Amino acid sequence: MPGFELFGDDERKEVNDVLDNGVLMRYGFDGMRNGHWKAKALESKLKNTFQSQYVQLVSSGTAAVSVALASAGVGAGDEVIMPTFTFVASFEAIMMLGAIPVLVDIDSTLALDPKAVESAITEKTKAVMVVQMCGSMGDMVALQNVCNKHNLLLIEDACQAIGGLYNGKPLGSIGDLGCFSFDFVKTITCGEGGAVITNNETYYTNADHYSDHGHDHVGNDRGAETHPFLGYNFRISELHAAVGLAQVKRLPEFLGIQKRNFSIIREALSDVPEVEFRTVPEGGVESCAFLNFFLPDLESARRVSKAFKTNGIDACFHYYDNNWHYIREWDHLKKIKSLFPISQEVKDGLSYLKQKTYEQSDAFIARNISCLIKLSWTEDEVKTRAHKMAELIKANL
Ligand SMILES: *Cc1c(COP(=O)(O)O)cnc(C)c1O
Repeated sequence: MPGFELFGDDERKEVNDVLDNGVLMRYGFDGMRNGHWKAKALESKLKNTFQSQYVQLVSSGTAAVSVALASAGVGAGDEVIMPTFTFVASFEAIMMLGAIPVLVDIDSTLALDPKAVESAITEKTKAVMVVQMCGSMGDMVALQNVCNKHNLLLIEDACQAIGGLYNGKPLGSIGDLGCFSFDFVKTITCGEGGAVITNNETYYTNADHYSDHGHDHVGNDRGAETHPFLGYNFRISELHAAVGLAQVKRLPEFLGIQKRNFSIIREALSDVPEVEFRTVPEGGVESCAFLNFFLPDLESARRVSKAFKTNGIDACFHYYDNNWHYIREWDHLKKIKSLFPISQEVKDGLSYLKQKTYEQSDAFIARNISCLIKLSWTEDEVKTRAHKMAELIKANL
């Protein structure tokens, strides 16, 4: 996945443009910039990439999720349905708004189970946030149907799925709003950065203002801008956008390498009858950022994960035992360990987590191994790795 692995002269050139004229901020200072508008140029490029009418760059993927929710009016006391398997950023972004994350089971797609979503809906539910984990996606038709039926927003966290498609559409562009991250380990990187995409003009205008102190960005004189509503600072800098601009131009190349490396490993593992791959919904095309597969049970997954580590197969994760990506180890959420007071409404809203169990999610995550697909591997390296992985799995079933 990581764009930082293939990093060089193009990125340096774009960054130097910014350093040469000294305007490190994305807004204003028109006279000093010698025509360089890196954030604007990146937004324009991303509109094509994501086939989306509007793109708002922000400072991170976490900020993107929070800004997307805020832009659609989600806030204090609202419930947002999210999956048990994602990065901790998902619930942080919801909590930041004083809203309540409602965690529900995933299915064999490793994304939200539409049936679990439907049974978690209450009169407080405002949005469903599907996380397109590890380069693939949930059943978007079913999720869209649930949202339409109950008049809920559908938000896509596509931070790990740049380049994935569903019925020909880029992941992130299917829901009401889509969110991306360009942090250091994502498919393309800005160092730090993120984007909100939407076809809804109001949500876009809200995102544009909200992510820059509520400034309305109207007119040529930045000092004369007014504040139609309260905002905060989730701006990206020109330096970060410059890096992203070089990276996004190489996205087709990155996706090609990812697909080649993914396919070699997938084919080698297909020879092991006990290996079962994640479900990709009909009409879906994975971005190939990760290869995900299931082993027969928790014990074999633990053994294989350990054997990979001790035999130099890096970048493979057994999320069941990790506290970054799966509910089982998220004690800081379950116990609401916050530096500052949290409202009683949110505490009450989260109290379900103390007793709730997630057998269905456990059954998938316990058996799942998730292998990051790197861009820097040569074809020979991938072939050797793929063979070794298949052998290690067979030896540790
Ligand atoms: C990386 C990631 C985020 C957060 O992105 P940052 O840019 O690191 O804040 C959110 N959701 C998912 C699924 C991610 O992988």
